[in-house]
Order: sequence, then C-alpha cells, then structure tokens
Amino acid sequence: MVVARGVEKSFGAVKVLHGIDLDVMPGKVVCLIGPSGSGKTTFLRCINMLEKIDRGLLAVNGEHIGYRVGKDGRLCALNEREISRQRREIGMVFQRFNLFQHMTALENIIEGPVGVLKESKADAREHAMDLLRRVGLAHKADSFPSELSGGQQQRVAIARALAMRPKLILFDEPTSALDPELVGEVLDVMRKLAHSGMTMVIVTHEIAFARDIADIVVFMDGGWVIESGPPAEVLGNPRHERTRKFLQSVR
Ligand code: ADP
Repeated sequence: MVVARGVEKSFGAVKVLHGIDLDVMPGKVVCLIGPSGSGKTTFLRCINMLEKIDRGLLAVNGEHIGYRVGKDGRLCALNEREISRQRREIGMVFQRFNLFQHMTALENIIEGPVGVLKESKADAREHAMDLLRRVGLAHKADSFPSELSGGQQQRVAIARALAMRPKLILFDEPTSALDPELVGEVLDVMRKLAHSGMTMVIVTHEIAFARDIADIVVFMDGGWVIESGPPAEVLGNPRHERTRKFLQSVR
C-alpha cells in the first residue's frame, strides 16, 4: 500500500529526512515513534503530498505519488487535478481535528462525499450515520464541534476521513491534543478500525498503544529510520542503543 525508497526532504538548508525506506502492506498498521523533531510528521505529510519530496520514490497503492510514468518510461509530474484524485484515496487525521466549526458533525462528514465524490446527499447522510454509529456518536450528528469534547471531535474527524472511502489512513499524533481521560475513547475507535482491516500509518507517542495495535513499529531519529519490526522486537528487545534510550525516556 505504501512503498518509500530513499525519501529525502529538506526545509531550506536543513535536511529533515535523510533517506527513508518503508513498506506498508495492505491491511497492516504501522506506528511511527521517535523523539520530537525526528521527521515523523514530515514523512507522513510527504505520503499525503502535503510536502513534496526532494529525492527518492514514494508510491501509494501502486502509483507514484505526484508523478506518473510517461510513455517514454520517464516520470512526469501530475497536474493539480490528478494530485487531488490521488490525495482523495488517502485519509488524514490531524492532531487538532480540523473540523469545520460552522458545520454540524454530520455536515462535516458529508461535505467531502457530496462536494468531491459527487455522492447524493441522501446516500452521503446514510453512510455518515453508519460511520457516526461506528465511532459511537450517532446521537451527536446535529451537534457543532464547539458542543463536543476533544475526544468526540477527533472521533468525528475519523468518521469524516472514512467517509471518503480511503485506501489508507494517516494519523498524526491523534491523541496528543486531548486531555488524558479522553485519549482512551479515540484509541478504542482506532483499534476497531485496525481490526476491520484498514491500512493505517500512525505517528504516536502512545507506546503501549503501539505495542498493542501495530503490526510494525518504526523508530525514527534525526531523519533516519533507526530500526523497524514487530512491536515485540522494536519495543520489547530493541537492537539499537538510540531506541533503548528513547524508550527509557518515555516510560
Ligand atoms: P516529528 O514529527 O518527529 O516531531 P517533524 O517532522 O515535525 O518531526 O519535524 C522535523 C524537523 O523539520 C524539525 O526540526 C522541524 O522543526 C522541521 N520542520 C518541520 N516542518 C517544517 C517547515 N514547514 N519548515 C521548516 N522546518 C520544518
């Protein structure tokens, strides 16, 4: 579902990704962990084309991100319309929910399907109500974001991402803006989603959650992947001193 080879990214003179290699198989959950500033969010944003990579290869669901292979075998840059189509297949859930404040939960969820996918309002509403039930918020369909807790807003944001029927969902620290007592309800929804077979890439500080949910944990530091593998290896028996030090610092 995701193939990254030698992905490099700089902001001005500062190189923040030094050559990331990563494979995400369909239906798997990959958690990216590591110290602040190690490039986790930047890498996630590259997958979703919110940042453009400088070098390397990045493909989602078998397509180069931002490029296509021309008749002569060379890569040509995609135009805006083609990029929007690619981006549509990738859901993103942000740290700060990013719901439209002037729309109800239901309106937030149907906005993309009606506006972009051209679904009928009736179909989009029906699907949105199913999704609200899945995240345990059917009774809040007509509430505005300001009337919802942070945990509820994040669950609506997850339903909104799912409404676009993505092939992959990226989560950027989805619980780090929440009060501690609201973290569990969001993690529960994500756990259910993982069990339903959704492919997920999650930047998280929740090490216990990563251990529980991830098929693969990727430890990044300083713009490099230091090690990756099943949680029992990377979290339970890390090979690298930097991983050990990081895990000690967050425990
Ligand atoms: P992490 O998610 O691991 O905390 P980030 O990907 O957010 O790391 O950041 C990696 C580095 O890139 C940091 O040094 C950060 O300051 C820098 N950075 C991120 N986004 C930008 C940007 N838009 N412009 C300049 N520097 C940035």
